[in-house]
Amino acid sequence: MEHIRCLIIGSGPAGYTAAIYAGRANLNPVVYEGIQPGGQLTTTTEVENFPGYPEGITGPELMDDLRKQAERFGADIRSAIAIKTDLSKRPYTVTFDNGDEVTADTLIIATGATAKYLGLEDEKKYAGMGVSACATCDGFFYRKKVVAVVGGGDTACEEATYLAGLASKVYLIVRKPYLRASKIMQERVLNNPKIEVLFEHNTVGLFGENGVEGAHLVKRLGEADETRYDIAIDGFFLAIGHKPNSDIFKPWIQTDEVGYIQTEGATPRTGVPGVFAAGDVADPHYRQAITAAGSGCKAAIEAERYLTENNL
Ligand SMILES: Cc1cc2nc3c(=O)[nH]c(=O)nc-3n(C[C@H](O)[C@H](O)[C@H](O)COP(=O)(O)OP(=O)(O)OC[C@H]3O[C@@H](n4cnc5c(N)ncnc54)[C@H](O)[C@@H]3O)c2cc1C
Repeated sequence: MEHIRCLIIGSGPAGYTAAIYAGRANLNPVVYEGIQPGGQLTTTTEVENFPGYPEGITGPELMDDLRKQAERFGADIRSAIAIKTDLSKRPYTVTFDNGDEVTADTLIIATGATAKYLGLEDEKKYAGMGVSACATCDGFFYRKKVVAVVGGGDTACEEATYLAGLASKVYLIVRKPYLRASKIMQERVLNNPKIEVLFEHNTVGLFGENGVEGAHLVKRLGEADETRYDIAIDGFFLAIGHKPNSDIFKPWIQTDEVGYIQTEGATPRTGVPGVFAAGDVADPHYRQAITAAGSGCKAAIEAERYLTENNL
């Protein structure tokens, strides 16, 4: 069985950044890229908030640069998906869908989190053309425009409030007759004159010529007084949660109730020595490329220290 000193699972900003640092520290990192080489940013066009690119850069170009930078320092980047782990004892064993089975002294988990969508065909049709699951990432493109946010929890209220600082109007589309968010977040939303909360509403479709121009809504779906109507919007933001890609680590690693890997304070250390988590898979709060890259850097520094301390 092949033995690896520093194994990195995931090839988003967290994984590639960990690989750059681990490569420069002579740890001979091996990266398994998974089903989405380059991670979530490969699905977007303009990235305007990653430091170092004053004119912005497309997501695929940014990830290609990060990959090349990791390769320059010797990262061995492979394409396979991790399907099973045994983290009960060191060296840790990971099995991949191409038949690879490797052992590792240190493991950096950088598998990201996937945004949840309603499941409408139109969400795919207008992906990158008015549909977004990240207000921090895309809100700026909707200054003085009208947007809708879907969801009734804390994240939805946070995103609606953030967008209200940019857009001219924000609809908050809530399935239930109430908000699930904390009292303080509810108040912030309900007292914001730019936000109109549409309780007991479902979105059943989107429309528009070259991008989102509106949404088809149903009020009190399935009830006797069910009403269907359209609203005009320029952007449609999903805020109904994310699924962290942590299932294969759960037997060994502590996660929260949603599945985000729990780390020690602000460090990337998990409860298993030598196993670190970086990026969105361990971050329910920020989920940005730069924060993912930052935590990938921390994870690689931790891996180097762990190997040194344990003479590995
Ligand atoms: C459409 C869109 C636009 C965005 N725009 C911006 C923006 O403008 N600015 C910004 O800062 N952020 C933006 N984000 C958020 C940003 O993309 C994420 O915060 C960031 O990519 C998280 O990085 P990560 O490395 O943690 O994980 P990800 O980028 O999610 O990468 C996860 C990696 O893990 C791999 N993986 C998963 N499971 C396995 C497995 N079992 N085995 C092997 N590999 C696996 C995947 O293949 C992937 O390579 C955007 C996100 C989306 C979806």
